Amino acid sequence: MELADAIEEVKTTCRFCNRKAVFNLRHDPEGRALVDGPTVLLGTEECYSPTCFECYQSRIDEAKAAAAGEFTAR
Ligand SMILES: [Zn+2]
Repeated sequence: MELADAIEEVKTTCRFCNRKAVFNLRHDPEGRALVDGPTVLLGTEECYSPTCFECYQSRIDEAKAAAAGEFTAR
């Protein structure tokens, strides 16, 4: 029974790399992370996916970089 519990605990795996998920990433239907900021799109459907620390960080950094790029390009 204790073993079954341990297996149950790691059942949630990262959507992107299958490591153990520790975050719930908010993202759009294309998998781009949604971050709070000036470029949050109205009407964008929000999705949540279990995500490991590494993927969460890289997705957020990517989204912030993209948002910063869009912002300065105007
Ligand atoms: Zn991952």
